[in-house]
Amino acid sequence: MTVAPLDACYLKITSNPNPSVPKPNNELVFGKTFTDHMLTVEWDIETGWGIPEIKPYGNLSLDPSCCVFHYAFELFEGMKAYRTKDNKISLFRPDMNMKRMNKSAERICLPSFDEEELIKLIGKLIEQDKHLVPEGEGYSLYIRPTMIGSSNGLGVSIPTKAMIFVILSPVGPYYKTGFKAVKLEATDYATRAWPGGCGDKKLGANYAPCILPQRQAASRGYQQNLWLFGPEKYVTEVGTMNVFFVFEDSKTGKKELVTAPLDGTILEGVTRASVLELARQNLNPSEWEVNERYCSIYEIAERSKKGELIEAFGSGTAAVVSPIKEIGWENEKIDIPLLAGEQSGALTKSVAAWISDIQYGRVQHKNWVRVVAEL
Ligand SMILES: *Cc1c(COP(=O)(O)O)cnc(C)c1O
Repeated sequence: MTVAPLDACYLKITSNPNPSVPKPNNELVFGKTFTDHMLTVEWDIETGWGIPEIKPYGNLSLDPSCCVFHYAFELFEGMKAYRTKDNKISLFRPDMNMKRMNKSAERICLPSFDEEELIKLIGKLIEQDKHLVPEGEGYSLYIRPTMIGSSNGLGVSIPTKAMIFVILSPVGPYYKTGFKAVKLEATDYATRAWPGGCGDKKLGANYAPCILPQRQAASRGYQQNLWLFGPEKYVTEVGTMNVFFVFEDSKTGKKELVTAPLDGTILEGVTRASVLELARQNLNPSEWEVNERYCSIYEIAERSKKGELIEAFGSGTAAVVSPIKEIGWENEKIDIPLLAGEQSGALTKSVAAWISDIQYGRVQHKNWVRVVAEL
């Protein structure tokens, strides 16, 4: 028997008989509204990938013994489609999400798939619901590709059946009124990821355990955890975003943009990679260094005291960049300056503009943007 690869040419489309009208932009709440259609493809260890289907958005039907419910055979991606001024709908670096999705699948013994074929299928799904992609700066279509193990039975073993599904959610800007700088609690009593673990993969199982520490931080007045790791207390990530710090050497005046290295404990953010690439391209090397290196909370506290900590921000698909204004660490309060009367630092603002200019098609980028539909 041949094992079929994922192939977009077999796509079957069943249109939703009750198409919805777009919600007004001000009613969009992140991840609450979904479009009219979803994509599903099933996989079987004997026969491979089945017929991809676009059909009306609706419930899945799974046996209660299904392995996804018991042993967390689940992984996901988060990406966005943007509506440009000339009414094209485009994806931002979808190849990176697909590559990461396959890496996540491999880690939990779920099947791999042809990345280009899934991009084509996601494109077809968006085409189907293109009238629901919101218009305007900060508005986009959030895309949630998901893969689950779907074989039945309580034995702990490799799933013999699996399924990819993709759902779409029209979303507004993360911060309704421009930026809103956040306060973080430096957290060392809970650990998000560790060497040899799977914190560098987008597995659902990594997220549920982070809610309790987040609530604990929130009870002390902090929006998110700044995850520390090890006896050195290296900063790793913030909430579910990568994290960047900006230092300015008080003697030389040289500035440095720093983020944690990809050592297996850091989620390989597409936004992180894009920030690094654009910073290396746009910042003058005689004034700036851009480094992926370990940086501890001790270094951050010490350099803050010397006035050398000048900016900090998180990066991720949902908010793109999210400025940080304060870190609570033990009994200290580390203040991070913001531009006068604003909610971010200067580089944070530039980075946000560089990325959104490309996403909304105001600046052309030959490799990062892929048009999937036109209105
Ligand atoms: C998704 C995610 C990120 C950000 O990745 P992007 O590809 O930039 O959206 C960072 N950290 C964690 C833990 C994540 O789950």
